[in-house]
Amino acid sequence: MGLGDHHILIIEDELPIRRFLRASLGSEGYRVSEAPTGALGLQMATAQPPDLIILDLGLPDMDGQDVLLRLREWCTAPIIVLSARDQEPQKIKALDHGADDYVTKPFGTGELMARMRTALRHAHRTGPEETAITIGELRVDLAARVVKRRDEIIHLTPIEYKLLVTMLKQAGKVLTHRFLLREVWGPQDSQENHYLRVFVASLRRKLEDDPARPRYIVTEQGVGYRFAVE
Ligand code: CA
Repeated sequence: MGLGDHHILIIEDELPIRRFLRASLGSEGYRVSEAPTGALGLQMATAQPPDLIILDLGLPDMDGQDVLLRLREWCTAPIIVLSARDQEPQKIKALDHGADDYVTKPFGTGELMARMRTALRHAHRTGPEETAITIGELRVDLAARVVKRRDEIIHLTPIEYKLLVTMLKQAGKVLTHRFLLREVWGPQDSQENHYLRVFVASLRRKLEDDPARPRYIVTEQGVGYRFAVE
């Protein structure tokens, strides 16, 4: 599927930002629809389901988080939220509500395009039938529970393995601390951020060439981690 076949819905009330997005996405070959309010965005998403949605969190008629929750009731397209600076809690909330990624205003075209490509690729790649995941030099055989790096078997503890697979299954996407804690340790331990730090550090020691400058498990400051796909 070429870029030109992708239909992008922009839900954003600020006209200059919509204009900027329409011009930059249009020149990359994307087909663009625009909604200046949350209500219209929901209506347009239903009428003509997009391949990806760019959603501003500060909308005049509805809370962007509510728009996100309503979309996620039925819509599986990737959603990238736009948020203002110094809105870490809003970003985390949006990711926990099912957003795939975020971009902080003011943002550059290059950054947004990269996030969009990752989100679109992810949307078309993953499926429940997957039995092996390969990213870079890593290969995880899910059926055999074997992790290899450049054909060398890496021995992981059960928690390390669970954390790695949880991140790999949503590679490219920002995963919040709370999400990872809940997935790996369960709801009762979802406040214990230090568990996560310890196991991320040990995974990096085993998987990364330089654990201090990780290539795979990237820190999203104050938010969580991303398993980088490129
Ligand atoms: Ca706004």
